[in-house]
Amino acid sequence: MLDFVNVEDDLAEEERMIRDTAREFVDERVKPDIGDHFENGTFPTDLIAEMGELGFYAPNLEGYGSPNVSETAYGLLMQELEAGDSGLRSMASVQGALVMYPIHAYGSEEQKEEWLPAMGRGDAIGCFGLTEPEHGSNPSAMETHAEADGDGYVLNGSKTWITNSPISDVAIVWARDRSSADDPVRGFLVETDRDGITTNKITEKLSLRASITGEIGLNDVYVPAENVLPGVSGMKGPLSCLTQARYGIAWGAVGAARDCFEEARQYAQDRDQFGGPIGRFQLQQRKLAEMGTQITLAQLLAHRLAELKERGEMRPQHVSMAKRNNVRTARDQSRIAREMLGGNGITTDYSPMRHMANLETVYTYEGTHDIHTLVLGEEFTGLKAYQ
Ligand code: FAD
Repeated sequence: MLDFVNVEDDLAEEERMIRDTAREFVDERVKPDIGDHFENGTFPTDLIAEMGELGFYAPNLEGYGSPNVSETAYGLLMQELEAGDSGLRSMASVQGALVMYPIHAYGSEEQKEEWLPAMGRGDAIGCFGLTEPEHGSNPSAMETHAEADGDGYVLNGSKTWITNSPISDVAIVWARDRSSADDPVRGFLVETDRDGITTNKITEKLSLRASITGEIGLNDVYVPAENVLPGVSGMKGPLSCLTQARYGIAWGAVGAARDCFEEARQYAQDRDQFGGPIGRFQLQQRKLAEMGTQITLAQLLAHRLAELKERGEMRPQHVSMAKRNNVRTARDQSRIAREMLGGNGITTDYSPMRHMANLETVYTYEGTHDIHTLVLGEEFTGLKAYQ
């Protein structure tokens, strides 16, 4: 397995164990069927509870059943899950970083006790509703809103492109609170069996097909005041969750790219043309040399990010650079791997084209590549270009 500069030699025992558990799970439980799931547009829902038992949902949180593993261990977990499929990693990222994290960071004691252990086990599923049909890259322009009503709030609006919404028990809906001065954005925990909520599935996807994506329609949905996340107000709420999830993506992309590399490396040795393996041709060796180098650079950036996060020194701009670079690397290299597999490369029998299609989503969600470019542009000039 590609680890050219032996970064993983320095892993602690627990980190090695988590990596190996996730790798074995992906090899045995995911890889055999994932091509069929991708073709059929289904998620392997039978694995949701198993992933909970293995501790794959937010193990980097402390308390409420979470073991508080290191940030490197969490990153390695995301790397291994995405080596299986970006849809699998997305499921775990949303559950952990976008739903459990905000409840842990900003929730009341009652909210934490109600949701965190159940979500950690995979008994309850959550989704994160920020994007709207008319507001993607600029979520602060959101139209979804809450009006105070007796002891609670009534929510109206619509969210789209929401991972897991059709199978969720609870949605964190980010909405403008019209009952407070300046309409601050607040997080509302909305159980999906409440009157007035719909979670239709989006079926036309050509990317991330082994992941369930949907809308959230909110038509006069009442939630009691105790369903509001009390600890945060303003865009800091959703943006801080996205920083956590993007951290996992920066790692996950390394896994997807590595899986493409390994598939291409094997194929280069097995496939004979002109009387011998295609891996003996310099053109193919050049592709592997470039792929191996780019993936190693992405891996180093992910490991450094983990060190910064562990020390409390990771800034959103660091995450922007890592998400932007590592996803671009994975997207570019998956295409080269696909190319090396010839005609077989366009089938679901091999992983590169599935990863390549998935990575179009990963390139776009959690801040598009363009938006992270502008974040870095502002970091290096002090001048904002995206408003
Ligand atoms: P737009 O914002 O309309 O962008 C269109 C194009 O314009 C892009 O290329 C963009 O880079 C570019 N652009 C926009 N603004 C600028 C600018 N200022 N300067 C230069 N270029 C610009 N959202 C959630 O809330 N929860 C989820 O669970 C979730 N899951 C998703 C799952 C999938 C499969 C997909 C595809 C998306 C998901 N999203 C989710 C939504 C995702 O985060 C958005 O698609 C993303 O933020 C981009 O928004 P948009 O699609 O509206 O594109």
